[in-house]
Amino acid sequence: MIHIEPIPAFNDNYIWCIYDDDSGKAAVVDPGEAGPVEEALLAQQLQLETILITHHHFDHTGGIEALTKHRDIPVYGPKNHQIASITHRLDEQSSMSLFGLDFTILEVPGHTLDHIALYCEDTGTGQPVLFCGDTLFAGGCGRIFEGNPTMMLNSLQKLAALPPTTEIYCAHEYTLGNLAFANAVEPNNTALNTRIRADKQRREDDIPTVPSLLATELATNPFLRCTEDTVIDSVKAQGGSNGDSEVDIFTAVRRWKDNF
Ligand SMILES: [Zn+2]
Repeated sequence: MIHIEPIPAFNDNYIWCIYDDDSGKAAVVDPGEAGPVEEALLAQQLQLETILITHHHFDHTGGIEALTKHRDIPVYGPKNHQIASITHRLDEQSSMSLFGLDFTILEVPGHTLDHIALYCEDTGTGQPVLFCGDTLFAGGCGRIFEGNPTMMLNSLQKLAALPPTTEIYCAHEYTLGNLAFANAVEPNNTALNTRIRADKQRREDDIPTVPSLLATELATNPFLRCTEDTVIDSVKAQGGSNGDSEVDIFTAVRRWKDNF
């Protein structure tokens, strides 16, 4: 059976470990550092077979060199030659198979230009899963470092169109900060208020708030709600938007969050 577990790294990164407990084979997504991965593999007696990379930032790639030094394993990632260690370069025309699971590749530029997300419709539990790096976060989205707001909005819309039952495995534990901002945008959103209480409790109990469900993101994440009147009115009350289009509102929400 396939399991997906977080390996905490740095201050607030999650390196996702996908493993098959029948074979003991494992893959890691975005290993920003090697040490915590080696410890987790040893503790669970797993053998690292594959590395998956969503984008070129160092906190997602910094561990590749050490992890591949004594292992001859494939490194799947975006078509970005800045990441020299990638052995299999993926785009939307690519497909990838891992432990018998089929993954679809989605190009999601915005946070960086090379950003990809990895989607699997069924890991054996009947539930779709998405590894989306720093594009869609629980309660928020990544900063726009290399793309532009139109690009980022298109990427988020691509993810928002996946089945609502999709589990969202993002790469950081940013949720409570994101939800505090979401609450400033939509203070009267009941689903959001329920989520804040539940996720605060999780953090108090030292439990990750990730993965979240896409359905929850659609109901509470302001970056996926830029056509909702509540979000539009709130942005306009801030004096933040130059126009009424979805991308105008999205741009204003992103700018508001950057300064929150
Ligand atoms: Zn990043």
